[in-house]
Amino acid sequence: MLKAVFPGSFDPPTLGHLNIIERASSLFDELVVVVAENPQKKYLFSAEERVTLLQELAGPQKNVSLFIWNSLIVEFMRQQDIHIIIRGVRGTDDFSYEFEISMINKALDTTIETLFMPTDPRYFVLRASAVKELAFFRGDVSSMVPPLVEEALKKKYPGSP
Ligand code: ADP
Repeated sequence: MLKAVFPGSFDPPTLGHLNIIERASSLFDELVVVVAENPQKKYLFSAEERVTLLQELAGPQKNVSLFIWNSLIVEFMRQQDIHIIIRGVRGTDDFSYEFEISMINKALDTTIETLFMPTDPRYFVLRASAVKELAFFRGDVSSMVPPLVEEALKKKYPGSP
């Protein structure tokens, strides 16, 4: 069984995330999407809400499972005996950041390999923080997130300008 993890905040899940999940899940027997619950970070959606959205959206892919994790990803991987991390890369800025993180993870556990997956060109400039800002100001996010997430964003920002 070849397994990989795809960790992230997914606050909220975007079409960019879903594209990576779809492509990565076709390459492995199982893809474990690990939803971060970092106590130092402030999220718009709770971890449970993010998992519920991802469950609905990635549900059709039978080899995708979901976990909430509030500690180092390497600890999760040790616990689950998984050795591959998938990270999506939008451009050179993402790459230099992700490269450093991969070095840190390697130093923590030499058995871990990080694989970078370039974004689909449609989602090149798509990031969750921009989606939230746009949604807050009632901008059109329909090309960035699926309708389910669009609805969830509307509920989070009911009285925004
Ligand atoms: P962000 O807030 O930047 O969307 P996340 O922590 O939710 O970040 O990202 C989880 C993973 O998904 C990371 O590997 C990130 O590079 C990747 N990712 C995020 N957006 C995209 C996108 N538009 N295309 C490809 N990968 C993406």
